Amino acid sequence: MKDETKCLHSGYTPKNGEPGVMPIVQSTTYRFDSTEHIGALFDKPMECMYSRFANPTVDAVEKKIADLEGGVGAMCTTSGQAATLFSVLNLCNAGDSLICSSAVYGGTINLFAVTLKRFGIECIFVDPEASEADIDAAFKPNTRAVFGETLANPALIVCDIEKFAKAAHAHGVPLIIDNTFATPILCKPFQFGADIVVHSTTKYMDGHALQGGGVIVDSGRFDWTNGHFPEFTEPDESYHGTIYTKEFGNMAYIVKARMQLMRDFGAYPAAHSAFLLNIGLETLAVRMPQYVENGRRVAEYLLQRTDKIESVEYPGLPGDRQHALAEKYLGGHGCGVVTLVIKGGKQNAVRFMDNLKLACNEVHVADIRTCVLHPASETHRQLTDEQLVAAGINPGMIRFSTGLENIDDILEDIEQALAQVD
Ligand SMILES: *Cc1c(COP(=O)(O)O)cnc(C)c1O
Repeated sequence: MKDETKCLHSGYTPKNGEPGVMPIVQSTTYRFDSTEHIGALFDKPMECMYSRFANPTVDAVEKKIADLEGGVGAMCTTSGQAATLFSVLNLCNAGDSLICSSAVYGGTINLFAVTLKRFGIECIFVDPEASEADIDAAFKPNTRAVFGETLANPALIVCDIEKFAKAAHAHGVPLIIDNTFATPILCKPFQFGADIVVHSTTKYMDGHALQGGGVIVDSGRFDWTNGHFPEFTEPDESYHGTIYTKEFGNMAYIVKARMQLMRDFGAYPAAHSAFLLNIGLETLAVRMPQYVENGRRVAEYLLQRTDKIESVEYPGLPGDRQHALAEKYLGGHGCGVVTLVIKGGKQNAVRFMDNLKLACNEVHVADIRTCVLHPASETHRQLTDEQLVAAGINPGMIRFSTGLENIDDILEDIEQALAQVD
């Protein structure tokens, strides 16, 4: 099936007489005929047993997303942050390290640089444009993963996935890619060597600003028996000696994440959230091309306004410094998000944003409605100036997230707001 078809049909196949839409299974528990049956599930939870880590409605969405990414399995979480955290904790223990491109979402930088450090996990940040030799030099004997973001929020730096995958694999560790902005419609990171994909489903996947969520997808291709990951190949005492690679084969990573991390931390979405996420996913493949088209039109307009605009970043335009990478990884496209730097710094950025009438000022991005945000004073305010620069964020930068309104209305709104800026 092609993406448009998968968006509608993957994950749930009703049998004779069953509901045409995956129902909301609003129940924390599942009944079984015997104690023995339940006991067996504690050894090998292959059926839904308890809604802290499994639910049929969520399961259908997990299967759909896994199919869209080309993976063998997926696990939904209550937020993108939880997905990122679990994707790493499934590999790293206290005393381990990971390598991360510095061009990633601000929340990811904070999670890795501050919070994981408190857990005893060190994150070594590398420039997204670092040479293979430089990335190579960042590895330590305790490095367990490499992390990057396809199209970085908000700097829109395109990750050279193949370069990072090559470096990771040379050291026997997997590459995790945050594919939130690209979605599997614009990029499928597994095709370029990534091993694990994470998403904030809060963004384009949900698409309608209804609820937060995240997901981890397993490509099923990484060889966990290479000697670097004893937790995958030695008995898990907390699961009666389960050996993940032996019992679950190429689904070892995603099953381990559910059996250990979701069981112990419990950040599993409610059935109703998954039901709403599924509605968003059904139209993802038809929405993305329109975001791309509107984003490109906004970028083109802003590029002409050299009187008020200092710079525009949109990898989907042929003149853009990221365009070669966008051609390789994103079919030559950007998404709906355009980052711009307005002349006159922070003051004019704020004035422009406050004068927009259609585009809403809100802490969101990749929504169906056009919205704007000032990263330096909002989402990324916890970063130091140094981290801001490393993440590609200028104090005058605005993240303009183009929605699906008529493009003429969007451009008219930008024009009138720019007129208010000197
Ligand atoms: C928003 C976002 C996250 C965090 O997701 P939440 O759902 O807000 O927790 C992670 N990565 C990227 C690229 C994001 O845009």
